[in-house]
Amino acid sequence: MIDLHTHTLFSDGELLPAELIQRADAMGHRGIALTDHVDTSNLDFVLPRVRAVVNELNRHHGVKSLAGVELTHVPPELINDLTLQARDLGADIVVVHGETIVEPVLAGTNRAAIEAGVDVLAHPGLLTAEEAALAAQKGVLLEITSRRGHSLANGRVAALARAAGAGLVVNTDSHAPSDLINRAMAEKVALGAGVLPEELPALFANAERLLARAGGVLA
Ligand SMILES: [Zn+2]
Ligand SMILES: [Zn+2]
Repeated sequence: MIDLHTHTLFSDGELLPAELIQRADAMGHRGIALTDHVDTSNLDFVLPRVRAVVNELNRHHGVKSLAGVELTHVPPELINDLTLQARDLGADIVVVHGETIVEPVLAGTNRAAIEAGVDVLAHPGLLTAEEAALAAQKGVLLEITSRRGHSLANGRVAALARAAGAGLVVNTDSHAPSDLINRAMAEKVALGAGVLPEELPALFANAERLLARAGGVLA
């Protein structure tokens, strides 16, 4: 399993990075990205600390951890600048909190994230065909999520991604230890969203490529 969207005590997750990474390691994960909620107020506080702990723990664990952020509820106009700042601060992965149908995320967030070329557009909700086509063009991965609420639009995201040729990833958006899932469950979540069995290898290869590309120290 490679999980590219999780939260720690640096935002509203329950665990320290060390415990989240240890739990992922104990479950046999190959990769885990720590992507705490950030806006302008805390990006430069959270990311250097997560970067440091990830660099250190990658020397001690089998699981490869990535330092990331989830730009959350920021006005769409700020997404490009914050993405650049996150990359300057050493982010392996930039996730944007997309237009989930269960929160009042600002309209235009999906499009701004895709145009900014972030790595993963999380829970994009009522994604449009045009946005999916742009995501395919920009190489932005669209998220299928196991998280309750956000997952209500998974079927739409999977269908539009297929039609547009956009890449998908299955993430947990874990906030608590019980939110972590293994690969078998991730496959069920994808199949439940309408992904076909023969499409699973290509889907999971997207996370593999992102993990391989990420900097940091290999264990
Ligand atoms: Zn989110
Ligand atoms: Zn999240």
